[in-house]
Amino acid sequence: MDACFSAFDKDGDGFLNIEEFDGICKGLFRNDRGIVYSLDTNTLEHIFNIFDTKKDGLIDRQEFTMCWNKWIKTIIRPVNIFLIIDVQNDFISGSLNISNCSAQQNGLEVIEPINRLLDTVNFDSVFYSYDWHPTDHISFIENLNLRPLDPSSPVNVETAQLYDTVVFEGSPKIKQRLWPKHCVQDSWGAQLYKDLKVVDNAMKIYKGTISDVDSYSVFWDNKKLTQTTLGTQLSQLNATDIYVCGLAYDVCVGATAADALSIGYRTILIDDCCRGVNLNDIEKTKNSVIKNHGVIVQSNEVKTMVEGRDRRPELGYKLALEIEKSMKKDIEKDKFN
Ligand SMILES: [Zn+2]
Repeated sequence: MDACFSAFDKDGDGFLNIEEFDGICKGLFRNDRGIVYSLDTNTLEHIFNIFDTKKDGLIDRQEFTMCWNKWIKTIIRPVNIFLIIDVQNDFISGSLNISNCSAQQNGLEVIEPINRLLDTVNFDSVFYSYDWHPTDHISFIENLNLRPLDPSSPVNVETAQLYDTVVFEGSPKIKQRLWPKHCVQDSWGAQLYKDLKVVDNAMKIYKGTISDVDSYSVFWDNKKLTQTTLGTQLSQLNATDIYVCGLAYDVCVGATAADALSIGYRTILIDDCCRGVNLNDIEKTKNSVIKNHGVIVQSNEVKTMVEGRDRRPELGYKLALEIEKSMKKDIEKDKFN
C-alpha cells in the first residue's frame, strides 16, 4: 500500500491530488490487454471526494488506507459468485417453455455458454436457484378460482388469459401475472435441465415455495416479506461480485439483478447466458441494470473479470457509492450516540 501511494504521489508532497488519483484509476480500470477504461470527470471527482473524507482536496495517507482497504483491494481481488437462475425443465421444454412466449427465445441456448463458464472460470462459489412451487401456488392460471379477485382486477376469472396480470383480494392487494402450472416441487419440470453441469459444492436455493406469494428474485419474494438463504450465505462468503444469468431474462434474472444491486453487490449480468419472455421487458431489464451501476457482459468477457485482470470502472464506481452510503450511515449513528 505504501509503495502504491508513493508511486502515484508524483510530486512527492505526501498527498494525492486528483491528477495523481486519476493515475491510480488509470492503473486500476483496464483490461487484460492494457486498454484503459476512461472515467468521466464527474465520476472521477465523485470517487475522489468520497475518499477525501477531510474535504481538503487532497487524499492523505490515512485517507488512502481506507481507500486501499475498502476499495482497491476489492477491485483487484473480488470474491466472485456465479448465480445460475432457474435453468429448469419446465422453462426449456416443459409447461412454461419460454419459446411459446412473445420473444420466442429458446431456453436451451443458455446451457452451452453456462457450462463453458463452469468449466473454465474459477468462481469462489456457484449457486443454482430453483423455482419451486406447491401445487396450489398463486401464480398458476389453473388456480385462479382458489382465491377471490379484487374488484380492481383488470380481468376477471372468466376473461383471464395466460400471462395476464390479475389483482387478488388481500391487504395489501396482490398483483399477479398468470403463468401455466410450472416447477411444482419434486416434479420432473422442476428439475435442472439434464445437460446443465452441476459442480461439486454448489449451493441450491429454492424460491416461490409459499402458496400465496410469487418469488421472481432469488433474494426475496415479490412482496419482500420472506427471504431465501441467499443473502445470508453471500455475506458469510464475503461476496463482492455477483454474476447472474439464466431464465427468464426479464423475470427472475432481472428481479434478482435488481435486488443484488440494491443490496449493494457489484452485479454483472451475462447477456448470452440468459433467455427471456418479452423483448421490451428484456430491454428494460438491461437499462435498469446499467442505470443502477451494474454491467452487462458476454460470457467470453467473464474469465478475465473474475481473475481481476479486466477491471470495470462501472463496478468500481458502484463500490465507491456503497462505501459512501455506509460512511453516511456511520455519521448518522455517531450523531445519534
Ligand atoms: Zn414460478
